[in-house]
Amino acid sequence: MSQPVPTSIARVADPAAAGAIEIAWSDGRRAVYAPRLLRDACPCATCREARAQPAPASLLPVLSPAETRPLTITGMAPVGQYAYSIEFSDGHSSGIYTLEYLRELA
Ligand SMILES: [Zn+2]
Repeated sequence: MSQPVPTSIARVADPAAAGAIEIAWSDGRRAVYAPRLLRDACPCATCREARAQPAPASLLPVLSPAETRPLTITGMAPVGQYAYSIEFSDGHSSGIYTLEYLRELA
């Protein structure tokens, strides 16, 4: 079977969803993605490296002011036919999310 593709991508209108996006897929599936989930799953090299080396539990993470504000998705743009780049309110936008990866996260 061929890879399902998004037929629509929309911000969830419900304020309780905190800026989540909903993707409707060509196979009929609908999935809601919270900004934090997508940000934590960022596939760029920097984030993958950071996840591979978690800070020691004894150290409190130091949050920049941008990180303490609620995270939102500020932009989403297609990259070629099979991926999207997502820009977050913390200024991070180097992650390229393939359609396959988005399906995994659903
Ligand atoms: Zn990243």
